[in-house]
Amino acid sequence: MKPLAALDQERAARVEVVLFDLDDTLLTHGVLTREAYGALWDLSEAGLSLVAVTGRPAGWADVLARQWPVAGVIAENGAIAVGKRAPILGPAPERPFEVVERVRAARFPHVRYADDNAARRTDVTLDVGEHAHLDLPTIEALRGALVAEGLRVTVSSVHLHGTRSGDDKASGALHFLRGLGIDAGAARARAVFVGDSGNDAACFAAFPLSVGVDNVRAWVPRLSVPPAFVTEGARGAGFVELAETLLRARPRRTAGP
Ligand SMILES: [Mg+2]
Repeated sequence: MKPLAALDQERAARVEVVLFDLDDTLLTHGVLTREAYGALWDLSEAGLSLVAVTGRPAGWADVLARQWPVAGVIAENGAIAVGKRAPILGPAPERPFEVVERVRAARFPHVRYADDNAARRTDVTLDVGEHAHLDLPTIEALRGALVAEGLRVTVSSVHLHGTRSGDDKASGALHFLRGLGIDAGAARARAVFVGDSGNDAACFAAFPLSVGVDNVRAWVPRLSVPPAFVTEGARGAGFVELAETLLRARPRRTAGP
């Protein structure tokens, strides 16, 4: 990983789409700071397209896509996409309640469900780091037990998701961008992705211009592909740092006559 300061200006100036994770990337311990929200507006007003790409639920995406200066929100780790005007809600796989509960109750009875399951359409989510703080061996044992049951499992800094969806954050984001007229090649050339943890690995792999906020460093040993660049600031401060880097590189708009 190179420091973000090493990103060359020309490459930064070519960015037209900012794909960003929420928890521990835009959000700081679950909170959207004034500075991070301001950075979203600054990017939007400079003409960049913004797309949140999160493990959070479809119900969050439905609200955020309407209220924030974004083109859309990819939720549930790629399984759900919600656009600015019309929700894009394709057929959703059945949520694997029974299998997750069977495994949890039998082997991990101390593990609690995430408090946002009511807003989910495709996955079942356990709290590993939001209100609870599970140790790494427990998280890995949970992951292994659910994978052995045939689920796809994704882990972020806050949650462990079990799903039957075949999508990940990268496939969900690329599908959504295609709907905006940005094909996979253009997306690789003109989009930046910023994230922090395990459920971001697919996007770190898919987008050559990938950025981790500083707290990604703790995850690097567990990531199949690390981000290309890393910020100095952690969480929301890291997102602001990326926004400032992109905005500084852009040609200044001159006032019209
Ligand atoms: Mg995250």
